[in-house]
Amino acid sequence: MDITLHAVGGYEEVGRNMTCLEIGKEAVILDMGIYLDRYVPLQDNLDQLPVQKLIHEDAIPDPHPIGKLRKKVKAIILSHAHLDHIGAVRWLASYYKCPILTTPYATEILRNMDEGNSIMENNKVVSISPNSSYRVSDTIEVEFILATHSIIQAAMVNIILPQGNILYSLDYKFDNQPIIGQPTNKRRLRQLGKENTIALIVDSTNAEQETKTYSESVAREMLRDVLLGMETKGHGIVVTTFSSHTARQKSIYDVARELGREVVFVGRSLYNYISAAEKLDFVKFSGNATIIPSAVRSSKQLKKLHENRDKYVVVATGSQGEPKATLSRIADEEVPFTIVPEDFVVFACGVIPTPTIQGNRKILEHKIHRQQGRIFKDIHVSGHASREDIRDLIKIVTPQTIVPAHGDMPKLASVAALAAEMDYRLGKEVHLLQNGQSVLIDSV
Ligand SMILES: [Zn+2]
Repeated sequence: MDITLHAVGGYEEVGRNMTCLEIGKEAVILDMGIYLDRYVPLQDNLDQLPVQKLIHEDAIPDPHPIGKLRKKVKAIILSHAHLDHIGAVRWLASYYKCPILTTPYATEILRNMDEGNSIMENNKVVSISPNSSYRVSDTIEVEFILATHSIIQAAMVNIILPQGNILYSLDYKFDNQPIIGQPTNKRRLRQLGKENTIALIVDSTNAEQETKTYSESVAREMLRDVLLGMETKGHGIVVTTFSSHTARQKSIYDVARELGREVVFVGRSLYNYISAAEKLDFVKFSGNATIIPSAVRSSKQLKKLHENRDKYVVVATGSQGEPKATLSRIADEEVPFTIVPEDFVVFACGVIPTPTIQGNRKILEHKIHRQQGRIFKDIHVSGHASREDIRDLIKIVTPQTIVPAHGDMPKLASVAALAAEMDYRLGKEVHLLQNGQSVLIDSV
């Protein structure tokens, strides 16, 4: 049985991840994400835009190269709930008459995104808990192996076939002290090392970083150092982070309570992700914290926050400088809570390395400087494996073939260089692909 990997999206950028594995007469699709950098400028009139336009603008993956496989596709498998992995489902999934398999948490997020009910109507969504598996057909079994990342319930997807395994490890890190949930299931990965692992498709985002990616508990200590160790008395504190990063929000919440301040989360996307996390009992913020879905529609509450600024920690959406998110509205003085001199503005996040986002962030920081806010940047650890984590994964799993994904060519090539140190030969056991290209990875 021939196995061919089709690189659809995410092989030339950090975003719009989509890979198709053609397995004999069948196929599965792994992830269907958006490219945030190209998606955000189109966001205002998404419902009017034809799918072709989104593809043409590189906002979503281009599925045309795998058009012939349409009827072969038996499952769409979504590794975790980040938008660069699930955001294009609403446009592309209905091409394929098959179920969507994903984690219970990502199922909740899909449900939140699916206001028109089109996703759930066209494709049955099957929830698979991490560290369990699901049989798709006589040939294909899909296993979700729990991985630490920067979102609840990330999974490495193991495709179990009669001839061996194919491990799709987008996205992961080895966090030995996660804030929410368990560490990456290394025990299962070690078992894979004893079985035949045909191919490893691996996260190259941080492959250029010569280190290990540190635990989320390190970010918590950085946050404690700023909020508990500095002269915050009498000043407002605004913290911003990724809306989907519930573990980081839990740290903000815990540290704010140590400081004796009440936490107020402001913004629609924070509301959505926190609701999903609370529904599945991963956190319990409500009751002790306030969650305001819309800054624009909650003037009275924001005015109260403004007047009693030293009693609260405001957690705002917009960590990447998104012009319409809460933090930009605060900086633009569009809402009754604004920055006053010496207020703390803490960016508990990194900056996604794409041109538009980097530009937006600079603009936002400039506005906060003008208002004389005190900026604390990069209170953050990444959710992506660094070079030495990738080396560990290769050592543990001992795959026959490696395909780097989730990055542009320099990032993919970094994985190839690392693999070369481990005796994998480029073009033979390591394949560098671009979007739209394919490679035969096994033939029996
Ligand atoms: Zn991710």
